[in-house]
Formats: sequence, structure tokens, C-alpha cells
Amino acid sequence: MAQMREMMYEGKAKQVFATDDPTLAIIHYKDDATAFNGLKKGTIVGKGVINNVVSNHLMTLLKEHGVESHLVEQLSERDTLVRRVQIVPIEVIVRNIAAGSLSKRIGYPEGTKLKSTVLEYCYKNDDLGDPMINETHIAAMGLATKEEMDDIASMALKVNEVLTDYLKDLNIELIDFKLEFGRFDGRIVLADEISPDTCRFWDSKTGEKLDKDRFRRDLGDVEEAYQEILHRLMGGEKK
Ligand code: UDP
Repeated sequence: MAQMREMMYEGKAKQVFATDDPTLAIIHYKDDATAFNGLKKGTIVGKGVINNVVSNHLMTLLKEHGVESHLVEQLSERDTLVRRVQIVPIEVIVRNIAAGSLSKRIGYPEGTKLKSTVLEYCYKNDDLGDPMINETHIAAMGLATKEEMDDIASMALKVNEVLTDYLKDLNIELIDFKLEFGRFDGRIVLADEISPDTCRFWDSKTGEKLDKDRFRRDLGDVEEAYQEILHRLMGGEKK
């Protein structure tokens, strides 16, 4: 068993610890929540446990479909052993339905179905507010190679296909989500998390929001929404 060592990094929702094996790290999920680039702060009780379990469940499903991730094994309710990757400083956003910042940018009301999947890239930089960039910026800034971006784009689209199909059966519509990737052993692997913090999940029947928008927009029943996602994913149950 890899022994936990010093904290390498602390983010808004997670801490990352080194281990005595330089190829492995431990992620610890917190209940802290932030939105609007840290402007809004709060706590979602039980979120860390739910995001840990949900993310590991979805990454295990993705592995069965050939998408490699940093996941090694869950260690406890809030802790997961992962491969120690070098994060590519790009947030990859995949969209099926217009919502959030896309609705604002192109004037499509939230819930408008997009004719084809949208892929967006943002430069991971809090001081700049994670600005949207394109592949020519990525090349010009040397953030990733063309080959890496080809892998990232095809993996992101594969994640979308697998998750959309899987969630449909649980009466969850996958509106959009954010992915991060890392370099491990010369390859690109999926990293970070896939959870109600990083995805928009809408109930297929009622349209009810079951994700972090409940926190961002003060819609109430935030904890309940996270629990509902956990329940549907782990129980495989339809509401
Ligand atoms: N997202 C995220 N982290 C970010 C920005 C966005 O996880 O820093 C996710 C968000 O939860 C949503 C998708 O990416 O599922 C698209 O977000 P959008 O660009 O609409 O931004 P938002 O409206 O959330 O600010």
C-alpha cells in the first residue's frame, strides 16, 4: 500500500497528497464548494464522499469502454489512489445542450438542443478566469502537442458517448461537462473528476437540475440533488 506523504496541492474541492511511490498520488475530496471563480463559497455536506464515489464509478465504466484514466483504486469514502499525472492546463468542455456560459455567449436559451456536439477549450488559469482558447492558441502557447490534442478530443467525445448512453437509462440527461487530462508514461489519460460539480445533469422527465447549478444559482436542495445522483448511479434505479 502506498503511504501518504506531504500535501502537493490544495484546490477548491480537493487536496492532492504525494505517496512514497513517485508514480502515485492520493486525492482527498472535500465538502467545500466554490463558484464564479471563487467569488461564491460554501459547503455542500457530504459532497466529497459523493463526488469521490461517483467519479470513480464513472471512470471505472469508462475504462470498460477503453478510456484510460488516472484511477487506481478507492481507498476510503473521501480518498482515492491515482496515477501521478502531469495535468495538461486545459479544461475541456463538452456540450450536448446549450446551458450556462454557452447560452449567454450565443443567445440560445438553456435547454436548446445543439445540432452536433460542441467541444470547447479553456486555459486553466484562475488569475485570468479560465479564458476560452482554441487549438491555435494551444499550439502557440505550447500547452499540448497536436497529437495530444487529437487524443484529448477523441477521448472527450468517447466519454460523451459512453456517459450519455449510460445516464439515459437512469433518466439523467447529460447537458454538458468539463474534463481534464494528464500525461502519464508518455500517454494522455483522463484525470481530475467527473461528478455533479463538473457536469450538468438534468432529470430526463422533469428537467430538474441535479448538479452544482443548484449551489451556483441558490436553487435549494443542493445536498439532495447530489444524493439523488449517487443513488441513481449506484442503485441503477429509475425514479
Ligand atoms: N465547469 C466546471 N468547471 C469550470 C467551468 C465549467 O466543471 O471551471 C463545467 C460546468 O459544471 C458545466 C460545464 O463545465 O457542466 C460547462 O460550464 P459553462 O462553461 O457553462 O460555465 P458555467 O456556466 O458553469 O460558469
